[in-house]
Amino acid sequence: MSNTKDKVVIITGASSGIGEATAKKLTSTGAKLVLAARREERLQQLQKDIEKNGGKAIYKVTDVTSHEQMEELAEYALQEFGKIDVLVNNNAGVMPHSFLYKKRIEDWNKMIDVNIKGVLYGIAAVLPSMREQKSGHVINLSSVAGHVVGAGSTVYAGTKFAVRAITEGLRKEEYSNNIRTTIISPGAVTSELINSITDMDLKPGIDKAYEDAIDAESIAGAIAFAIEQPSDVAINEMLIRPTHQDR
Ligand code: NDP
Repeated sequence: MSNTKDKVVIITGASSGIGEATAKKLTSTGAKLVLAARREERLQQLQKDIEKNGGKAIYKVTDVTSHEQMEELAEYALQEFGKIDVLVNNNAGVMPHSFLYKKRIEDWNKMIDVNIKGVLYGIAAVLPSMREQKSGHVINLSSVAGHVVGAGSTVYAGTKFAVRAITEGLRKEEYSNNIRTTIISPGAVTSELINSITDMDLKPGIDKAYEDAIDAESIAGAIAFAIEQPSDVAINEMLIRPTHQDR
């Protein structure tokens, strides 16, 4: 029998890209999905598609930069499904690359708020019930940029290194409570993420790097694999690059 069946899985950033692909991938597993993002019409459509294909999903409009809204999301999952087994966290991400000298402080703050604080708020929201039930799984999206720093990606890479540090710290603090952690570090993936670039000087280089981008479904497959493992097996980290990506 599938290990994913009946698991309650919260997915942030479910309205596009890797989050949406993960929700679709899990549709046929018997998981109960809780979809979160800010664009309600996208979540509504995704919920309809999932239910049409025999899956089970609810959604809640959530801004991950709000600690209160993340708590409400977890409460909603508990109220509707009685437990939270998995949080697929930081699918909500932004990547407005720029050189430091350009002082795009608003972009820095946004990356820190969404990519770091959003991850922490997600963990904070699900930990109490996971600790109580003595099981759980937190899957955080880092990046190849969480392993390798490139000029222009400094702040984004800083947030993605932070995601890896936070996830490893969470593992050390909570493995004894049977809470698993997984860091997923994708390379270039086709999604809406590159639309968050605001520095047009960097756009041509990024477009070039994304010429070999792989589909979000490939990352969703890795996430589904981590969830499906038996409870005594934790896939702690995966780096998934397009075959032709050099860095
Ligand atoms: P997308 O831009 O396609 O998806 C990002 C999602 O985040 C959207 O659903 C968006 O929904 C949501 N989001 C953004 N800001 C907020 C917010 N404040 N509150 C709630 N939701 C928010 O990107 P990807 O799917 O590609 O990215 C997913 C993750 O994977 C990110 O962490 C990204 O850094 C990481 N990653 C992606 C790579 C790539 O090449 N695509 C490579 C390496 C890592 P909405 O606007 O509706 O809120």
